[in-house]
Amino acid sequence: MTHHYLIIGNGAAGLSAAEMIRQRDRLGRITILTNESHYFYSRPGIAYVINGQVSAEQIISRSEQFYREHRLDLCFGHATELDLVRRTASLRSGETLHYDVLLLATGASATPPRFPGRELDGILTFDTLDDAQKVIRYGRRAKAAVVAGGGITAMELAEGLRHQGTQTHLLQRGQRIWPRLLDERESAIIEAQIRHEGIQIHYGAEIDEVLGKKGKVAAVRLKNGQELKAQVVGVAIGVRPNLELVKGLPVKLDQGVLVDEFMQSSVPGLFAAGDVAQVYDRWTDRHQLDILWPSAINEGRAAGYNMVDVARGERPRYAYQKGSPFNAALLFGVHLTVIGRVGIQPGRGDVTEVEEITHLSRGASQVWTTPFQSNYRSAWDSSGPNSLRIVVDEGRIVGALLLGNQELADPLRQLIEHEVNVRPFETLLLNGQQPLPKAIMKAWRDWHESWN
Ligand SMILES: Cc1cc2nc3c(=O)[nH]c(=O)nc-3n(C[C@H](O)[C@H](O)[C@H](O)COP(=O)(O)OP(=O)(O)OC[C@H]3O[C@@H](n4cnc5c(N)ncnc54)[C@H](O)[C@@H]3O)c2cc1C
Repeated sequence: MTHHYLIIGNGAAGLSAAEMIRQRDRLGRITILTNESHYFYSRPGIAYVINGQVSAEQIISRSEQFYREHRLDLCFGHATELDLVRRTASLRSGETLHYDVLLLATGASATPPRFPGRELDGILTFDTLDDAQKVIRYGRRAKAAVVAGGGITAMELAEGLRHQGTQTHLLQRGQRIWPRLLDERESAIIEAQIRHEGIQIHYGAEIDEVLGKKGKVAAVRLKNGQELKAQVVGVAIGVRPNLELVKGLPVKLDQGVLVDEFMQSSVPGLFAAGDVAQVYDRWTDRHQLDILWPSAINEGRAAGYNMVDVARGERPRYAYQKGSPFNAALLFGVHLTVIGRVGIQPGRGDVTEVEEITHLSRGASQVWTTPFQSNYRSAWDSSGPNSLRIVVDEGRIVGALLLGNQELADPLRQLIEHEVNVRPFETLLLNGQQPLPKAIMKAWRDWHESWN
């Protein structure tokens, strides 16, 4: 019997699932649906397209031939409705697709702006390759741009617009850069780089209204009354999972689709993976959202494996274990790596937990900033533009944030991922008896030798 797998989403999660299904089921019919007009591309790569480091063509990593060779039916269309009883998906074109097993891999989209003037030509969000091309086009024409948002995407947008030669203003609601994640010293390092690029930062600044002229953006009025002339406004105030297709259906939802360890939702035969899925996290003992590329790939693989089991009438077997969330990015020429739990605690920074969830940004994980139940301690080290911070909880390093020098990124990733007991090194790590990098290397070497 031939099984029909339907995957809604041609991103990292959807494509990884399709590849896994094809490995396990040579004959099955696999349909991938996308409402974009491109073959698979690296979504994080769009940030490097707008700052001129790579071309759009370079980030498209699967060709028409790839889909043909693997017999993946790529369907360009927009799904509007699901019927979980009949097992069908309706498309905007009027077409209906039947399936035996379904994967929802619809990703997440930028939270739309709410200020007056949001419908004007020149308001940009940054989710897709088409958006990147728009940023370049509009950026080249504009004299000045305003970007609002506190996370990684806002900084990437500001960097990309500046790269087009646009005079760029970056609006920050708080009093420093990325206060949900960075401590004051780390914010200062990024701030120096932003200023070095010639971008003007406005702290405590929020958009009150965008003013237009003949339907186009002409200026931005801030809540403090200040007016900035601009022809482009970039908005990156957070993302939210694309849940439209399952809202109102009997599928358990929280901030995303709640899935079990097999990536299956509360409805048998309906799987979810990637940005749209909320997955159990052993470090925080909660279901969490990861808006991260590697998570989407791993979740997609697990979902694909289990979809084949379920299509065959078997129990799913591949229990997915969420890894410690990891991201490495390049911001204004500074390398940034974030691993595990590093957030600034409520009361210590200027953020509340509720704010954090509504402002989860691209390339970030909720795990990073989930408050600790127990007593965590952190240690910090810096030299020039390089900085290193670790967080230790119950004898384990649970998080690390590196700016600049990345030598310790991999050792730290391993110590965190393997939950290595560092109690014997705790005094060295936390009491500053040795430079922190040396103490970390000592803990890592000791574990590495015992491991091999
Ligand atoms: C600018 C930017 C920078 C980023 N930087 C990083 C980074 O540094 N590190 C990192 O780890 N992650 C980063 N990310 C996040 C990462 O790209 C995502 O976590 C990842 O792409 C999620 O994959 P996904 O498959 O879940 O969703 P997506 O890649 O978003 O794919 C969703 C798919 O669903 C389709 N779709 C949605 N709704 C429908 C519908 N109704 N009908 C048909 N098709 C539909 C879309 O067409 C698309 O094909 C970044 C993202 C952006 C945009």
